[in-house]
Amino acid sequence: MPLPEKKICCPHCDYTYHLPIDDSAGSQDFYDDCPNCCCSFRVRLMFDPIHQVSRLTVDSDDEQIY
Ligand SMILES: [Zn+2]
Repeated sequence: MPLPEKKICCPHCDYTYHLPIDDSAGSQDFYDDCPNCCCSFRVRLMFDPIHQVSRLTVDSDDEQIY
């Protein structure tokens, strides 16, 4: 079964792309790299059991130490 694709908007450059995410695994918290600006950012997938939907949020990782 193909993974459902979620729309992701890069918090750094606003580039929008699709990322296959297995949301049947429940809540997830991971980092991804933007294919446009190559910046990494945090992706959080939270499953809402009340509405039976998963919500995707992206965060630029301001706490990252360079
Ligand atoms: Zn970007």
